Amino acid sequence: MGLTGIQILKKLPKKNCGECGVPTCMAFAMKVAAGQADIGACPYVDPAVKEEIAEASAPPVRVVKLGGGEHTYKLGGDTVLFRHEKRFESPTLIGTLITTEMDASEVEKRLNYYKKYQWDRVGIKLQPDVILIQGKGDAFEGLVKKVREEIPWVAIILKSEDLNSLSKGIEVCGDFKPAIFSEEFSGDLINLAKEKKVPLIIKGNTIGDVAKKSEEAIKQGLKEIILDTGARSVREVFEDQVILRKAAIKKRFKPLGFPTIVFTYRYADSLVMEGIIASLLIPKYAGIIIMSDLRPDILLNLLIEKMNIFTDPQKPLTVEEGIYPVNGPDEYSPVIITCNFALTYFIVNGEVEGSRVPTWLLIKDTDGLSVLTAWAAGKFNADNIAEFVKKCGIADKVKHRKLAIPGYVGGMKGELEEELPDWEILVGPREASGLPAFLKKLAKELREEAGVPAGTVSGGEEVKEEAKPKEEAPSEGAPEGQRVICIAESINIMSKRIGPAMKERNPEPIQKMAKEETELGADYLDLNIGPAKKDGPELASWIVKVVEEVVDTPISLDTTNPDAMTAGLKVSKNPQKALMNSITIQKSRLEKLGPLAAELGCNVVALLWGESGLPRDANERAALVVDLVGKLNEYGIPNEKIWVDPILTPITLGADQIQETLTFLSMLQEITPGVKTTIGLSNVSNGVATHLRPYLNRVMLMMLMKYGLYSAILDVYDKELVEIAKGKHPDWVEMVHKMMDGEEPDVKSLSPKELEIYKTVKVLTGETIFSESWLEV
Ligand code: SF4
Repeated sequence: MGLTGIQILKKLPKKNCGECGVPTCMAFAMKVAAGQADIGACPYVDPAVKEEIAEASAPPVRVVKLGGGEHTYKLGGDTVLFRHEKRFESPTLIGTLITTEMDASEVEKRLNYYKKYQWDRVGIKLQPDVILIQGKGDAFEGLVKKVREEIPWVAIILKSEDLNSLSKGIEVCGDFKPAIFSEEFSGDLINLAKEKKVPLIIKGNTIGDVAKKSEEAIKQGLKEIILDTGARSVREVFEDQVILRKAAIKKRFKPLGFPTIVFTYRYADSLVMEGIIASLLIPKYAGIIIMSDLRPDILLNLLIEKMNIFTDPQKPLTVEEGIYPVNGPDEYSPVIITCNFALTYFIVNGEVEGSRVPTWLLIKDTDGLSVLTAWAAGKFNADNIAEFVKKCGIADKVKHRKLAIPGYVGGMKGELEEELPDWEILVGPREASGLPAFLKKLAKELREEAGVPAGTVSGGEEVKEEAKPKEEAPSEGAPEGQRVICIAESINIMSKRIGPAMKERNPEPIQKMAKEETELGADYLDLNIGPAKKDGPELASWIVKVVEEVVDTPISLDTTNPDAMTAGLKVSKNPQKALMNSITIQKSRLEKLGPLAAELGCNVVALLWGESGLPRDANERAALVVDLVGKLNEYGIPNEKIWVDPILTPITLGADQIQETLTFLSMLQEITPGVKTTIGLSNVSNGVATHLRPYLNRVMLMMLMKYGLYSAILDVYDKELVEIAKGKHPDWVEMVHKMMDGEEPDVKSLSPKELEIYKTVKVLTGETIFSESWLEV
């Protein structure tokens, strides 16, 4: 970890003058910590402090660059030990070597590898990307020229014991920066690297030796170094990589805080074994891997591994839009559709394959967003699904006209049937695990209707909904504690009970729910009409009127459609109390909704969804909140009208992200004083079995209360959750907060309820790895 925003703040002059381009020093510090601002932008920081901050906020594994222009290769830049903590920054460079000892045909053959071995996978080009050139004299210079001419995109390492040859090789490379390597470490070698501004590979006999040499090079002013520990066995090289990375990240030991290079042929005498060693070292921090030779089968495996390890775990991989036949479908087989988020695809595909039901799986391009997110972003709605179904050609492949959509977007059934009048839309299960039973039943029906034999299809299990947990009786007469405003989440177009009523403009079920939610303790009613692409303005104004006719509870209008938001809030009886849910930094929403919120004087949810999606950590959230709140202020919306939503992520994605949300909340008042907060609480339990979700939601709420959460969009039908929000369980809240401060309760003395809370805190803080059996462990 580099410096945190708070650590940087302590070194700033705290004038809050805004000359750095952001309104406060705290905001500026957050941006510097997130790597989005340069410390040099503050004119009042002392140059020595500037240098100190720049140095301290550099990544613990320094960045080293090879090549140039569009073929610049970055090494290092890492800040974490494990990929799931954030991401691995710079893909390992993989390649082989050519030497002046090789005959011309061997050199030619090897250069041809680089031209031939190129593959395309999910839009990513896979190819060897580095070559080591070894030798001396004119032949060496000639090889460098040849490489630059024939494979100009490939990064270069120049290896020679003759400094003059290295120098000439560097000159041949011109602006295309090579790394230089000589077994003999010397002051002259350092000077050459310094003078020519190229990275130097430093070889040691042990880690201690390499650290000593690296320290010396740093002292002489060299900034770009690559380390070779000179390990003698597979075990040693593996351990060395781990020790180096730990020393850099955990201890911030500068001499070892550089990318590494590994030569697999030092540890194996067959290319297959080299491939195995390389595959071990790609995830274990090797910056460059040089193999004795390249073979397409081995290379492709390594490149695929590299692609998987170095993708950003927060940026989903996608699969191509199209029709995917699974289990050999025919014209009577079921047709189902889902999004192109690779994880969704693999899960759905796995379940369909496992069911052994021949099925046509339609994959719709949603930019890699999962089903619900894509629906909310308008990338998986009736219009564009219909357009895809019409053009993809599935109608030519099946005789029936039945299409199953994911259960989570079952609410669009009617709309989709309007768009696809020849098709009957079926609502599939919400979770992929329900697909085998669903498909078996559907396949059987389709075959029966068509009068064809059922074949291998077996059928008929019913998909049962999981029972809701039994509610415990509310505690009577408990002392009141901290309160959180409850925004009821259930009036939602995706709900089975409410979705059809919205579509049919049937006010009754909606009004009934509005009254129920109010009685259950809702302080606000969230009216979620989704993207409402077609009839958004009309639907929004209708639903606002319908709800306000029967209750006085303020509304939170929830849509991504700015026109619908405008229409709905304009007809509200009480717009100043209403909540605009939500505004983001995206121009299209901000520019329409910012002035409207200012005009109406309503409250605004400032959703921290950045230009490139979900912020990765507390620093990125902080940098984003500065921008968004600043822009809302420019429209004349004061901080007390802004409810910041830092976005809560599901526990299934790991506890680290939840911790980032909590850390962000702990700093928020210092960054943008006076803003309020809100959160989509149920997100934390998304993807978890229905009966277990309340346990996570309740404890998460208590944890968020530690940082003064102002409001939460939550399930008011969960009475215990509402009681917690209303301050009816201060003892539980206190216990949770003490645990968050590191206090360990005496487990033996805990009541069953407290034990349940205890175990859930452990899961949400990441002390226990989440699994659905966490309460039983
Ligand atoms: Fe002014 Fe920005 Fe420097 Fe703070 S960090 S003193 S706000 S220029």
